Amino acid sequence: MVQDFSHVTVLGVPFINTTQKAFLTAIESRITARHNTFIVTANPEIVMYAREHPDYQNILAGADYITPDGIGILKGAAIIGTPMSERITGYDTMLSLLSWGNRNDKSVYLVGAKPDVISDVARVVATQYPHLKVVGTHDGYFQDFNPIAADIEVQQPDMVFLAVGFPKQEQLIAQYRHQNDGLWMGVGGSFDVLSGHTKRAPKFFQNHHLEWFYRLITEPSRIGRMMVLPKYLKAVKKSVRQSK
Ligand code: UDP
Repeated sequence: MVQDFSHVTVLGVPFINTTQKAFLTAIESRITARHNTFIVTANPEIVMYAREHPDYQNILAGADYITPDGIGILKGAAIIGTPMSERITGYDTMLSLLSWGNRNDKSVYLVGAKPDVISDVARVVATQYPHLKVVGTHDGYFQDFNPIAADIEVQQPDMVFLAVGFPKQEQLIAQYRHQNDGLWMGVGGSFDVLSGHTKRAPKFFQNHHLEWFYRLITEPSRIGRMMVLPKYLKAVKKSVRQSK
């Protein structure tokens, strides 16, 4: 864990407590200095998964930054009595870094999502960020990550975005990050959104902290995954009672 920000620990997971802007400034200077950096953007689902999987908890402990991705984390922090500044989502962080990379001639390696999605992502990135060097792309349905990691080692990109969903993306990053001293970040379903295959919630839903509700009505099959939220809030409240 890099100690340049204060932390708020929610159910054992230490989140950085800062603004998106300050966070980006710190990350950009680390990338420029080629400091090996592992970012996890975590939501309640990840926190609950880590509670039940010590291996994954260990992986989180080895990350440099864990950001609050999701209003549930901010709610949890408020319940504990240590409110946090703001959400720092994987998708917004990735977009900001792509744009910064474009302005500063940086390079990126993109791995994840279905083959048609990643090829659309490559097209979108080439059009919207023409000065950013895309030094490699691969879909997320590989059998073996070793050849991809070997290529990343050869290319030495400034940033690697891995969009294969949790826990796999963090497991792979923890295992392979030392093959490239750049930024490594798991970005979940972000390539589906960037390519236009999935729509992000309209601004109204985002501004009213109802992104989760938008996802639920557009992708009802996620109901099972979302049932973790009430359990998470219950566990946070219990942790407060136990600490008194
Ligand atoms: N995915 C992948 N390889 C796999 C499993 C999933 O590339 O073996 C991709 C999937 O196509 C999707 C992303 O990983 O683009 C996971 O998206 P999801 O919305 O589940 O992630 P979240 O943002 O909720 O973590």
